[in-house]
Amino acid sequence: MKHLRMSSAVNPNWATYDLSNLVDNLSEVRRQLAPGRDVFAAIKGNAYGHGAFPVARTLERAGISAFMTGSYDEATELRELGIRAPIVMFAGALPDGIPDIINAGLIPTIVDMASARAAAQASMSGTPASIYVKVNMGLGRLGVAASEAETFIATLSEMPGLKVDGIYTHLPYGNEAGLEWARGRYVAFDDLIRRLDTAGLVPPVTQAGASSSVVSGIVDQANSVCVGHLLYGLSPYEPGFPADLANYKPVISEIGSRLVQVTAHRQGSDVVIAGMQGIRTGKRIGVAPIGAAHGLHRPAPGSAPVAVIRGMRVPILAVSLEHLTVDLDAVETAEVGDEVLLLGGDEDARISLDELAGWSGLSCLDTVLAVSGRLDAHYIGEA
Ligand SMILES: *Cc1c(COP(=O)(O)O)cnc(C)c1O
Repeated sequence: MKHLRMSSAVNPNWATYDLSNLVDNLSEVRRQLAPGRDVFAAIKGNAYGHGAFPVARTLERAGISAFMTGSYDEATELRELGIRAPIVMFAGALPDGIPDIINAGLIPTIVDMASARAAAQASMSGTPASIYVKVNMGLGRLGVAASEAETFIATLSEMPGLKVDGIYTHLPYGNEAGLEWARGRYVAFDDLIRRLDTAGLVPPVTQAGASSSVVSGIVDQANSVCVGHLLYGLSPYEPGFPADLANYKPVISEIGSRLVQVTAHRQGSDVVIAGMQGIRTGKRIGVAPIGAAHGLHRPAPGSAPVAVIRGMRVPILAVSLEHLTVDLDAVETAEVGDEVLLLGGDEDARISLDELAGWSGLSCLDTVLAVSGRLDAHYIGEA
């Protein structure tokens, strides 16, 4: 009675997330790294749309060193739900918000003196506030300028009430040109760490690597990496940039709904929703109550979108706001209540995340984000 567990009769749409794949992906990341290097998990954006708490709990049980995120609300909720591992907040708050971050048991990222002073003041009553410093090595988004990083960290190290526990940067890339650029920036970050070390200023945690560098095998001197994409089984690269991701499995394993109506249309009738008028032969049509409002995208021009029903691949004829219309000619036995899979299925008829993303005209990550929070979420494979 799988489908009854998966969804209710009034809302038969669901997404399944297989947390054993999350753990396996973490093991694979660890296998790629030199011994002794720590793995931090990026769980921003509700863990890339997978659900921050189930993901964090699973990774914590698997021994993750720390989490990084930008969402204060998600991070404080994780603390309330009992997540203990360090949580580093990306630099997403105004200086006035830094004390709240510290008082919530989270670690702020500091990128300027105003935030540093706010952190130092917040800690006046007790132990020094643990902070991380972010350095801009060329991405141009956030961080202290690389040329000022040494002086900045030296200044912070002198401030009572502050403890610089980490220094990090972010060097993501998605294609060949980006890879060449990143190689040089990793070397520059290694140089910075070496200079800080010489000055006795290097913090306990140094981190630059992320999914793209782990896949490319870039070896840097920092003692930690912070990965997101790979943990969720997603490619950090643009489509077409070759990458060996065979050992990483998407955590999202199923997206499904159920047929709420099956109709037979005689020769000559119209099925306008599918762009058909005066059909030449009879046609059976099925409808499931899942559509654009639930995060499905309209099929990209020229694509061949499919769903799986009763172990058969069937063409999707239309995605509308709340409905999916499928061609049931190939599945004579299909009836109301049957599962309609947009992702997943068994060996004979399986729709991969790549295939779903392909006909949706989206990246795999954007496909996962699009349905996030809009379907009944089920978690399997928990340790
Ligand atoms: C998102 C993020 C990461 C993880 O990046 P992936 O490419 O998903 O591995 C690491 N560091 C920072 C600062 C980030 O914002």
